[in-house]
Amino acid sequence: MALRLFNTLSRSVQEFVPLDPQGRKVGLYCCGPTVYDFGHIGNFRTFVFADLVRRYLEFRGFEVTHVMNITDVEDKIIRRVGEAGTTLAEYTGRYEQAFLEDSETLGLRAPHHRPRATEHIGPIIGLIRKLEKRGFAYVADGSVYFSIERYRAAGNRYGKLLNLNLDELRTGERVANDEYAKESVADFALWKARVPEDGEVFWPSPWGEGRPGWHIECSAMSMKLLGESFDLHLGGEDLVFPHHEDEIAQSEGGCGHPADRPFVKYWLHGAHLLVEGKKMSKSLGNFFTLRDLLDKGFTGREIRHLLLTAYYRESFNFTLDGLTGARSALARIDECTGKLRAVAVGAAAGPAPALVDRFTAAMDDDLNVSAAWAAVFDWVRDQNRRFAEESITPAEAAAELAAWERIDSVLGIGGEAEEAVPADILALAEARQAARKAKDFARADTVRDELKARGWTIEDTPKGPRVKRL
Ligand code: AMP
Ligand code: ZN
Repeated sequence: MALRLFNTLSRSVQEFVPLDPQGRKVGLYCCGPTVYDFGHIGNFRTFVFADLVRRYLEFRGFEVTHVMNITDVEDKIIRRVGEAGTTLAEYTGRYEQAFLEDSETLGLRAPHHRPRATEHIGPIIGLIRKLEKRGFAYVADGSVYFSIERYRAAGNRYGKLLNLNLDELRTGERVANDEYAKESVADFALWKARVPEDGEVFWPSPWGEGRPGWHIECSAMSMKLLGESFDLHLGGEDLVFPHHEDEIAQSEGGCGHPADRPFVKYWLHGAHLLVEGKKMSKSLGNFFTLRDLLDKGFTGREIRHLLLTAYYRESFNFTLDGLTGARSALARIDECTGKLRAVAVGAAAGPAPALVDRFTAAMDDDLNVSAAWAAVFDWVRDQNRRFAEESITPAEAAAELAAWERIDSVLGIGGEAEEAVPADILALAEARQAARKAKDFARADTVRDELKARGWTIEDTPKGPRVKRL
């Protein structure tokens, strides 16, 4: 069976066929965080979903290039920078670092590229110039806007993802205070002229000093890193309109994609996360950053598991009880894999068991992760029965374990973090710390190399150094 995914563009489940004629390489872009605060668990539901897509494509043998941008300049950020009285880089750097740490806590595979908007002002200006040349952009008061009317007049469709009725949209009232400069209410800014409130956040451009609009950032960075046409674009459902509609209009307007090779072939959107049945909000007291949950004693693994229990297109009701449930679910899996390890010791794996097939069938069906977990827990029950009956051989246990490890390359909740670190390795890690403290960096490096030679590495985390398998 082939992998099938729900494509927002066609509003249907479609077989996934990459643009690559060899059918192997896949380009995947997911809109990344706006680094103005710590990420909340809603954000992380979307990022865990993107990680699941990437891991499953890799499991299916595709060679994925995964890009996730860092939005490090936009309206909210500029406001916060002004309030904090600091520089843009200082302000966003702190939250970008926190995001990277949180991503690691949740076991997210690192994207191959993490482009920052502020480092792509050149390609952004280049794309706006293309839009100008093709007649879809106009200047008003030093800002540059995208003209939806001109884009449509040239035979393009705006609103492909939502099936928008533009005539209805345009009767809407004015929504932002700078609308007067636009030819039409629905037009959006590609480049925003510098205003006093922007402080030092501005770049020179052919239209004067200013900064990019948020939508153009993703168009420019995704096409720069993945080409003018690529396979998959992901984000939370709130991004469908206007962000993704605008990305399509800017990219296809600027580059003139042929109809059979659009900007993006498959658009995937994750549904939102609710907390105790309600939209998260600070005033309701149900707003959790990832760090809030870690402070309550939950682990990244438990949070990842919970965020992965629901089908991505259904809104998910997050509860603290759910997290406690995740803890006991993981304990059942750990107990089972621990027993399998004990039985399998030294045995070569036998034939591949059914778990992988059942898991694959579930995931091929638009990433039906609920069915995939059902396969996992049925499997746990079966293994427990075999342990009780003492009917499992070491070779069978090794095969079951190999099957589990294969599917855990997708689920990412396996026990690797729990591998006991041998005492001599721990002693080396401590020796390195002591050398660093004494500023004997040559010695610290030697110890680090010795650890490496023995297959271990030290990672410096905010909670201190951590020893990990290479
Ligand atoms: P932001 O940092 O605000 O740019 O958002 C980053 C990502 O989180 C986007 O893909 C949003 O769609 C997504 N997102 C925001 N709120 C939620 C939520 N409550 N549930 C799931 N995803 C969300
Ligand atoms: Zn984006």
